[in-house]
Amino acid sequence: MPNLILAIDQGTTSSRAIAFEVCDDHTLRAVAISQIELAQHFPHSGWVEHDAAEIWTATLQTCREVVKKAGGISRFAAIGITNQRETAVIWDAATGEPLHRAIVWQDRRTADVSARMAAEGHEPAVQAATGLILDPYFSATKYAWLLDKTGMRDRAAKGEVKLGTIDSWLVWKLTGGARHVTDATNASRTSLMDLRTRAWREDLCALFDVPMTALPRIVGCAEVSGESDPALFGRPLPIAGSAGDQQAALVGHGALMPGDAKITYGTGAFLVANVGAEPVASKSRLLGTLGYQVGEAAAPEVAYALEGSIFSAGSAIQWLRDGVGMISESRQSEGVAQGLKDNGGVYLVPGFTGLGAPWWKPDARGAVVGLTRDTGPAHFVRAALEALAYQTHDLLEALAADGAPPLKVLKVDGGVTANAFAMQFVADICQVTVERPAFQEMTALGAAKLAALGVGLIPDLTAHASEAPAVWTPRMDEAERDRLLKGWRGAVRAAIIASE
Ligand code: ADP
Repeated sequence: MPNLILAIDQGTTSSRAIAFEVCDDHTLRAVAISQIELAQHFPHSGWVEHDAAEIWTATLQTCREVVKKAGGISRFAAIGITNQRETAVIWDAATGEPLHRAIVWQDRRTADVSARMAAEGHEPAVQAATGLILDPYFSATKYAWLLDKTGMRDRAAKGEVKLGTIDSWLVWKLTGGARHVTDATNASRTSLMDLRTRAWREDLCALFDVPMTALPRIVGCAEVSGESDPALFGRPLPIAGSAGDQQAALVGHGALMPGDAKITYGTGAFLVANVGAEPVASKSRLLGTLGYQVGEAAAPEVAYALEGSIFSAGSAIQWLRDGVGMISESRQSEGVAQGLKDNGGVYLVPGFTGLGAPWWKPDARGAVVGLTRDTGPAHFVRAALEALAYQTHDLLEALAADGAPPLKVLKVDGGVTANAFAMQFVADICQVTVERPAFQEMTALGAAKLAALGVGLIPDLTAHASEAPAVWTPRMDEAERDRLLKGWRGAVRAAIIASE
């Protein structure tokens, strides 16, 4: 019986394919991987584009390599997809060719449209329906821009031109143009889907000027939505799982219960907290989003989530290394920080690109406070690592203020989690158990789990890797924690005042 899943992880900087074996105990084990870097195009300041045709070619190539490495297509049972979210693609239904470069999630070209819509007072209604604030980050304003630029709105309304996020584009190409679908998590990032009904909304499509006929059909995350063209791999494979990257990581981590949360500490950090079967409306400008939707279409199992991000996490460590040369390698930071008995009263606010939730000061900049004649480079390093924990604390405080279920455990992944000092400090400051799985590819694992569920190779999403995770539990006394958090809040205030 074929028991391998072909997981496609189409990210911002690279396209990857990983073959996972579904073991008898329903855990999944990676057996082969292939990766290709992706060209980034920056046509203007603040604009970021990808070539959708290149994304497809690279995806196909990595898939073929992995199939070969893992012993051939007959060993595979299904395809699962996870992708960079919000990135908008436009293509011609007849030719299957992109009509413009894809607009990447980071792209700010529609900032003026979003600002105008906010000034016109549309944000409360959009947020109530979709969970999202008005921001160029999300797909809808990107779709409208693409339709304006290519002059294709009429053809799109007739169904001759298609719009979609990367998952949608890949399924279109994988099925030889037979399926135009998107999973509900990707749809929840467009500003066009009603978060409760998980269906496109006519009024939002009208507001953003995007014809609904050009949008994909919304499907569940573990639903067989099509079959790959037999010409691609020599045999058709069901496409049985799909979720946006952060949601796939939530599933990969097994953060399936209300109060489970995951945070990915990379260049920036992304927190996604499972809030349960009903969406939670945020008062702190966290994003309401879909965690996953699995099971029968008539009675699906749905988990909602709240999401928040930290703009600078690992990038502060990179800055210490590349910008000011206080360390020569990122991993040195752990020993340097541990070499000090305390932070010496020094706090670093890494507001290099502004401050996100819950402060929302895009124009604020970074600050270092508490310098004395005893302050040395090590204090900067320690303060940068400590800042990860303080920022995580602020996000978790915003979650709690929004009425999210109390946090049970914080599952972590990403490059920074190699740093045991930082992880212990997160546990101490956030007063939560921090868990880092032994296997780190949570995004691809999540897509593979969904596809395995979609074809019935596993009964549910609960199975965990057999290798034990690394665990950090809080051990700091409360007075110390309060003192440190007071220092941090003072530093944030100073950073905000300095940039006013
Ligand atoms: P991304 O996916 O955003 O590129 P990664 O998950 O690969 O990020 O993580 C890379 C980041 O992790 C870099 O900013 C790097 O400085 C940081 N990093 C890597 N190892 C360590 C470490 N041992 N301690 C602290 N930071 C680290």
